[in-house]
Amino acid sequence: MAFDYDLFVIGGGSGGVRAARLAAAEAGARVGLAEEYRLGGTCVIRGCVPKKLMVYASAYPQAFAEARAYGWDVTGGAFDWPRFRAALDAELTRLEGVYRTNLHKAGVEIFDTRAVMQDAHTVRLADGQTVTARHILVATGARPFKPDLPGIDHAITSNEVFRLDALPGSILIVGGGFIACEMACIFNGLGVRVAQFYRGPQILRGFDDEAREHVAGAMVGRGVALRLKTDVAGIEKTGAGLKVRCADGSEEVFEQVLYATGRVPNTAGIGLEETGITLGKRGAIQVDGYSCTSVPSVYAVGDVTDRLNLTPVAIREGAAFVETVFRANPTQPDHHLVPSAVFTQPELGTVGLTEEQARAQEPVEVYSTSFNAMRPAFAGRDGRVMMKLVVSRATRRVLGCHIVADNAAEMIQLAGVAVRMGATKEDFDRTVAVHPTMAEELVTMKTPVRTT
Ligand code: NDP
Repeated sequence: MAFDYDLFVIGGGSGGVRAARLAAAEAGARVGLAEEYRLGGTCVIRGCVPKKLMVYASAYPQAFAEARAYGWDVTGGAFDWPRFRAALDAELTRLEGVYRTNLHKAGVEIFDTRAVMQDAHTVRLADGQTVTARHILVATGARPFKPDLPGIDHAITSNEVFRLDALPGSILIVGGGFIACEMACIFNGLGVRVAQFYRGPQILRGFDDEAREHVAGAMVGRGVALRLKTDVAGIEKTGAGLKVRCADGSEEVFEQVLYATGRVPNTAGIGLEETGITLGKRGAIQVDGYSCTSVPSVYAVGDVTDRLNLTPVAIREGAAFVETVFRANPTQPDHHLVPSAVFTQPELGTVGLTEEQARAQEPVEVYSTSFNAMRPAFAGRDGRVMMKLVVSRATRRVLGCHIVADNAAEMIQLAGVAVRMGATKEDFDRTVAVHPTMAEELVTMKTPVRTT
């Protein structure tokens, strides 16, 4: 049977765009791609990129304060949100244009419209037109999840943050994961009164316990009113603002309430189940190691599969899909030892096992240090950082590395190379320190603080 395309991609985010470009440019495939909103997806339009730019914006008040301690005669002045937002919009539009140009250059045909699956080889576009493809790749991402409780419609999500008309005077952030913690630090840095309510005993569940404690302590130290073991029971709009009622009966009023309580895969209403594609937990598309769904001609990559929901992972999954399907080189994306970072202030960078995971697996030595970094110390500010290595006693390999510090994301990228290569503690020790830096502590920790 002759198909219109070799590949049709539904969703123009990180994973879908990479797969489309590689299939067209490097494998010579005829590729179509449909995106209903803006090319670039969550990462570029309402995630990583605008978030990181807001992180930069929010760091200036502290930089101004530090500059004074370093002898500069500076005053910060006020933050002009509309000016920043306009610049942000312009940058996102530029990036979206780059995505479009690159897809064009690769020879991908773009459909700026919604697409749904009709059958294993057919996609229906919003105007009723149908197109056929030998393979279909679903890369529709995920969207914020808000729990059902009275007044939840008054709460915004990370989708709306970058489009606010005005910066609120106060904000409650609900959740304790990546997005909640990053947003709490951003708004706090921008001078907004921030409270963060998390239902569990400590934020950033799943990360190394010592690192979680350290981040939480630093956030509180910088002014975030963090309340643990706190559940919101309802939100009511009043003349004074949004009145938030907690399960323990306490009430507080905020100008904005932001829910960052996880994300759910975008799988509803796009014809997946009708096509026989199996969905799993939370509606995620179930795929095998090659990202193939239960329908052999249909693959899925990125957050819609709810594996490891990170942009670079979606990109790898997209590339592995192209290798497998279009270059006769079956390739499974590797989800092990993926370094990642939470862009809190200070940042948390992590790769490999947490101390808790490693201890459950085998006997370990734990090397950990916490100290005030040179730059904040000179300015009289508490800028404590944490460096930690979890080492296998049997193999001497570094099983996990955890860093809480300004620029920890940059550091963990490089430590990640060593950990992936199977570096031992002695390999770290043999590496000469770069002085004076924070990261030098990673190669100068001599005595374990704990041994199991
Ligand atoms: P996360 O899964 O990281 O965190 C969700 C948070 O919401 C958890 O603290 C969870 O609590 C809490 N929660 C879930 N349901 C409820 C509920 N019904 N009531 C109250 N609290 C609830 O999701 P995020 O939305 O923060 O981020 C989604 C994903 O996006 C991340 O997992 C990550 O993969 C990716 N991401 C990556 C970033 C990066 O690389 N820097 C930045 C932003 C996002 P509990 O822990 O108790 O379950």
